[in-house]
Amino acid sequence: MSCLFCKIIDGSIPSTALFEDDLCYAFADIHPQAPVHVLVAPREHVASLAECDQGDRALLGHLVWAATQIALLKKLGNGYRVVINTGEDGGQTVDHMHVHLLGGRSLSWPPG
Ligand code: AMP
Ligand code: ZN
Repeated sequence: MSCLFCKIIDGSIPSTALFEDDLCYAFADIHPQAPVHVLVAPREHVASLAECDQGDRALLGHLVWAATQIALLKKLGNGYRVVINTGEDGGQTVDHMHVHLLGGRSLSWPPG
């Protein structure tokens, strides 16, 4: 099994855990783009948002809900951003779907 995030989730590659439950594992991004930059990944390998189907609707909601819980833990009361980069044009570089939670500074829009 060669997926980087599957290895992070099974513990064979170290990470800084911030939240976890039966469906997801959240950890600090190794190259943070904001004071808080957390990745929320499903424990199950799903390559990208574009691979999801009807059966993944609850999981997708759960990942976004988990991001809200981490935002509370990190006291991001002034706001934050939740992003799912998808595919080549979306800037996805790791082919295990994940939600980015970014906060702790004012974020510009639109993204590059
Ligand atoms: P994306 O470009 O949306 O696929 O996001 C992949 C993210 O994974 C990037 O923000 C990387 O900094 C992050 N990343 C890559 N390797 C690791 C790692 N070993 N631990 C934590 N984050 C990582
Ligand atoms: Zn994976």
